[in-house]
Amino acid sequence: MRLGVRVCVLGSGSKGNSTWIATERTRLLVDAGLNRKETRSRLAAVDEPAESCSAILISHEHDDHIKGLTKLALDLQVPIYISSLTRSVIAWDSRLEAFETFSVGQKFVVGDIEVTPFSIPHDAVDPVAFTFEAEGVKVGLVTDLGYVPEVVKQHVQGCHCLVFESNHDLDMLKIGPYPWFVKQRVMSRHGHLSNRATADFLRTDYDGAAQVLVLAHLSETNNHPEIARLAARAALEGRRGGERAELHLASQSAPTAVFRF
Ligand SMILES: [Zn+2]
Ligand SMILES: [Zn+2]
Repeated sequence: MRLGVRVCVLGSGSKGNSTWIATERTRLLVDAGLNRKETRSRLAAVDEPAESCSAILISHEHDDHIKGLTKLALDLQVPIYISSLTRSVIAWDSRLEAFETFSVGQKFVVGDIEVTPFSIPHDAVDPVAFTFEAEGVKVGLVTDLGYVPEVVKQHVQGCHCLVFESNHDLDMLKIGPYPWFVKQRVMSRHGHLSNRATADFLRTDYDGAAQVLVLAHLSETNNHPEIARLAARAALEGRRGGERAELHLASQSAPTAVFRF
């Protein structure tokens, strides 16, 4: 049986982010924000063996992307791919030795997957989003950004699978329980994308190429899955030429389906 390219968002949100991207030969864990046990059990639940992991890639140093990193890297005995700036601001366990550093904008290859890390506007030292290409399939993974700059619009063109942030509903954020300085951070140009910002992108700049579109990094406090879904759905329907993407939502508590290409 041909396995093809598989994508599964294992968990997404401010309590932990991790995504699995796999081909027949290569399996990548992108971010390690869930703990070792949870990562293993979610992979087992979607029939993807954790032991088959080839490498862990890190987007930026925020806790919700690296909380499980040390234990997972030691457990799975895999290298960590990370930008050198991001690497320099994390306190490392001395037992971790296998690092591969990448630079923003420069493609690299892990097994048969070509990875492109590109810069995103977010309050970390060197935050990146990624696209992955293998077997003629392109996957984009874009979360943790305050707005959608031109470079991001260009990189996500032609993605067959696009995982894209839809973090908060602006009204819920404004009246919600966060202290004002946190609200300001979330709303800033180095914070997170609102449902509206994501809808604007989908309506005007998104190329409509994706078969699968996954909304991700939803706030559990300042968003509701149905509000995010409705905003994205309306934006997709407002596009000229309609839309053909299956729309999915990633969640904090459970993995998505395994999307196959
Ligand atoms: Zn995050
Ligand atoms: Zn972040």
